[in-house]
Amino acid sequence: MIRSLTILGATGSIGASTLDLVRRNREAFRVVALTGNRNVAVLAGLAREFAAELAVIADAALLPDLREALAGSGIAAAGGAAALVEAAQRPADLTVAAIVGCAGLAPTMAAIEQGRTVALANKEALVSAGGVMTRAVTRHGTTLLPVDSEHNAIFQCLAGNDPAHVRWITLTASGGPFRDWPAERLAHATPAEAVRHPNWSMGAKISVDSATMMNKGLEFIEAYHLFPVGEERLRILVHPQSIVHSMVEYRDGSTLAQLGPSDMRVPIASALAWPARMATPCDPLDLAAIGTLTFRAPDEVRFPATRLAREAVVAGGAAAAVLNAANEIAVAAFLAGQIAFTRIVQCCEDVLARTMPAAPHTLDDVIAVDGEARARASELLGTGQMTERLI
Ligand code: NDP
Repeated sequence: MIRSLTILGATGSIGASTLDLVRRNREAFRVVALTGNRNVAVLAGLAREFAAELAVIADAALLPDLREALAGSGIAAAGGAAALVEAAQRPADLTVAAIVGCAGLAPTMAAIEQGRTVALANKEALVSAGGVMTRAVTRHGTTLLPVDSEHNAIFQCLAGNDPAHVRWITLTASGGPFRDWPAERLAHATPAEAVRHPNWSMGAKISVDSATMMNKGLEFIEAYHLFPVGEERLRILVHPQSIVHSMVEYRDGSTLAQLGPSDMRVPIASALAWPARMATPCDPLDLAAIGTLTFRAPDEVRFPATRLAREAVVAGGAAAAVLNAANEIAVAAFLAGQIAFTRIVQCCEDVLARTMPAAPHTLDDVIAVDGEARARASELLGTGQMTERLI
């Protein structure tokens, strides 16, 4: 059976891994829409290669370039935020939500509202919209498949079991490139060092989030919304080898874990083929060669981001959306060389302490909270009011 597929964020790292799998299984998929932000050449190349119906560039000013790059192909071209949402509304059996940051929120929600299947990589959208998004999933009967490797692992370990039987869900964390750095060295970490992840090849923003451990904080919030066991039954364990992608311990003492190579094509394949399985080109797991798997508790003194995330879940309301927005602004400022590495999480804590808007009930409420927290973070960092979502 051929499945129709849309990829929001097709030009990024998750988009590339997804399309690599589609390339190897051409007969199984038909591509409906592909989107990018500014990368016209890559977007047009992918749209031509996969004979997409539609290509959308989020930066509307680049639409003439996209039209030119697609001339004669018969592929429709569109640009701007509304066009992204329209692409997400086109009928597709499966939509991969892989835009980075809260910029992916409106198109991801639009895909969810179609009531089909959404493979979610765009964790910031779920962190910000939380209950608004999960209620939409229920209302529209949407199947939400987690792509984030940890959540995909938990999804597999839960395998339809009753969450009431779960004692713990343990999210594993590589600890990032600075996991063994002393605290005093962290302030001097450069963007080039922060994006050099020891185990995973990923986009710049999530790589910095891994370095601060905010990625694990966002994933904690993501897990809270995806798996209804309560925040007190979620915990984090540092596992530098990134082989065990997460674990579920049941109340009878059985722990189920999902293991695999550090390659996003494994969880993406699990979502693309779900509930069946598909082959990937990844090497089989050679545990004899790996030899040792180690685990340790996270150090929330050097890396306070996971504490902030837990506090945001407990605070409820708009706290997670505020945390996410402040982090996006601070990471963009760090990548632009404007602030020190350690200022990223400090900024999040400062913005959380000063901003507590009312709990969002609609998508518009979430977008308003996000905008307010972004403005507050920019003001605090002295980077000026950011008028667009840089991430
Ligand atoms: P990348 O930065 O590699 O790609 C991001 C994608 O989003 C690109 O297609 C980019 O377009 C597009 N984009 C960026 N800004 C905007 C915008 N303002 N409006 C519309 N589109 C935009 O990110 P990743 O692929 O690494 O990550 C994507 C998501 O998946 C993130 O939420 C991340 O946390 C999550 N994730 C990623 C993992 C990974 O291994 N990479 C693992 C688990 C989760 P363009 O190329 O034109 O800039």
